[in-house]
Amino acid sequence: MDQLELTTDVSSIKGVGPAWARKLTELGIKTVEDLLLHFPFRFDLRKQAQPIASLKFDGEATVAGEVISASENSYTRRPFFQATVKDATGLVHVKWFGGGYLRDKIKVGAQLAISGKPSVYREQVQFVNPKFQIIYDPDDTDLDKDELMPVYPAGKKLTSRMIGSVIKRVLDQTEQIIPRWFDAEYLEKRGMPSRPAAVAAMHKPEEKEHWASARRRIAYDECLILQLGVALMRMRQISRPAHPLTNSELIDQRIRARFPFPLTEAQNAAVIEITGDLARDRPMNRLLQGDVGSGKTVVALYAALLAVARGKQAAIMAPTEILATQHYNKAQDYLAGSRVKIALLVGKQKPAERREILEALASGEIDIVVGTHALISDGVAFSDLALVVVDEQHRFGVTQRTSIRGKGFAPHYLVMTATPIPRTLALTVFGDLDVSVIDALPPGRGKTETICIPHNKMPEVLKHVRSELDAGRQAYFIYPLVNPSPELELTAAEDAYRDLADGALKDYNIALIHGQMKPADKNAAMSAFRAGTVQALIASVVVEVGLDVPSASVMVITHAERFGLAQLHQLRGRVGRSADNATCILVASPTTDDAKQRLKVLVDTSDGFKVAEEDLRIRGPGEIFGTRQHGLPELKVADLIKDFELLRLARRDAFAIVKDDPGLNAPHHQQLRREVIKAYAGKLNLLAGA
Ligand code: ADP
Ligand code: MG
Repeated sequence: MDQLELTTDVSSIKGVGPAWARKLTELGIKTVEDLLLHFPFRFDLRKQAQPIASLKFDGEATVAGEVISASENSYTRRPFFQATVKDATGLVHVKWFGGGYLRDKIKVGAQLAISGKPSVYREQVQFVNPKFQIIYDPDDTDLDKDELMPVYPAGKKLTSRMIGSVIKRVLDQTEQIIPRWFDAEYLEKRGMPSRPAAVAAMHKPEEKEHWASARRRIAYDECLILQLGVALMRMRQISRPAHPLTNSELIDQRIRARFPFPLTEAQNAAVIEITGDLARDRPMNRLLQGDVGSGKTVVALYAALLAVARGKQAAIMAPTEILATQHYNKAQDYLAGSRVKIALLVGKQKPAERREILEALASGEIDIVVGTHALISDGVAFSDLALVVVDEQHRFGVTQRTSIRGKGFAPHYLVMTATPIPRTLALTVFGDLDVSVIDALPPGRGKTETICIPHNKMPEVLKHVRSELDAGRQAYFIYPLVNPSPELELTAAEDAYRDLADGALKDYNIALIHGQMKPADKNAAMSAFRAGTVQALIASVVVEVGLDVPSASVMVITHAERFGLAQLHQLRGRVGRSADNATCILVASPTTDDAKQRLKVLVDTSDGFKVAEEDLRIRGPGEIFGTRQHGLPELKVADLIKDFELLRLARRDAFAIVKDDPGLNAPHHQQLRREVIKAYAGKLNLLAGA
């Protein structure tokens, strides 16, 4: 047979017929490479097994023993497969609902390890739907009782054992199949095994340390490829020429005079970093991170005004029309009486109005444009755009970030986010950006206290709200999406609005706002709230980002357990924006540990950075690196929290490699080049010819 290669189809492996190949394909394993990179997630449950007699009933446990009975019960409403497992100290009963497929696998006389939550049922120890592993099968003499057995992610039709047996067939050829990425010196410096050796050891380690070092190498490789992509993105962004926007004392004074307050120390530090970037003839590529209300928008306006002072244009892009309008109004206030010309561009403007704005942008008559996605739509052309500010970046993915600049110009680029970025994400999802942090709020802010109460305390909450409204302050009531379907979104907020309007708040002016409303209606409600004629705003999550109404002093979040931690923190930031103290009331009856933990974090800390780290810790990076649209390759082995140091090492290495060889053209980088192209396939055209 021909030598197997990474790209060889699994059906070419000796002994793998079409039926098996199909089953493997269903698990996403199509090629020899997929197969070899399908790593076990642990070894041999036996190692973790404890004597049955010592079982406690407060969590997960693993036991192992001989199957002394096994049978199928398909006559009940929920058919199940059951077995009894016995070790030297006792026995346990095991049930798998819908486990009919186990009839040919779990047989009397087999050695079985099971792992799950034991409980007591009819005075007997029971496991329901545990994970299991067949350690020894009396009918299958192939299986070596003493071998350290890998446990693979498996499917119903293809067990871990079957996968293991296929992998075994190619494992002794890893040296021929898997190319080396680095020379011996590179690896020795980092204390790492070669890639083929690491892959082999991931499946069949001689001992625990052996496996750990193999895992470290594979995790490094994943981080490295990810970081090579990040480094290439960054390289591409900053390699184009840009207009240097140099500052001067006069300009600086004139800009500062526009604001009714002196900038805070934290804002000044950010301004210094940003103006440093702007003075260069390469585009700035910077993330401005700061808690809600820390004064980012003011800093962004500073940068925009510097561009205008140098005769250029600036664009400020927000994720929603409400926010764009708010930024626009604020900027107009600051610029009242100046010659700076500022415009608003959003999706729903009348064609004539839109045409007028577009013409004025193209002719250079407009200096600063504030808008939504409409800013990056076709037909928007600038006379001399030198700065793009994107607010609340986390709404835009990495790929969108690149598309804004993909239009032939190379403006400086500033991203603002109120979601504090945990350090892992700063190096990955935002890894192509430099980071500035505004780490202190403007002076004279009151404190925001956060409390968590059950739903039946609502009358007391409403009493508190009324006393705040009576004192001339304002309140938000926030409701979650009741249902993922957009048509149903309004139900919760709308019902609550009716209840409050007819009941507890009937003597007050209240308004409803939700995602399905027409922008004009939304804006009307927002304006009335901002002006204070509306005292309480009943809202679905549309107020999540950026709204700034200083006299709002209470926020009541109903079903708080349905929101994510970062989102709750964002919401909470809508209050406490004046000298008055504020309250954030989380109305929730959390049932899961997870939800309880999330709410406790918010009650305990107001530090957004801590909230973000906690959030990431609770949800795990899988959430960010699994389903989210960030444009980065998925990680299978590396854990960005536990492997943070490795991520940093990989980042240093990747940036050094790209600096030396920006096209990854050198012969000894061909393997890396292939991997980057594969990992970023279709997402970004990072490399010429890729
Ligand atoms: P962010 O964009 O970070 O949420 P903003 O720039 O919108 O913050 O500022 C929040 C509020 O604080 C605004 O009302 C703004 O006028 C005010 N503010 C900003 N900077 C200062 C400052 N240096 N001193 C006093 N108030 C400030
Ligand atoms: Mg803001």
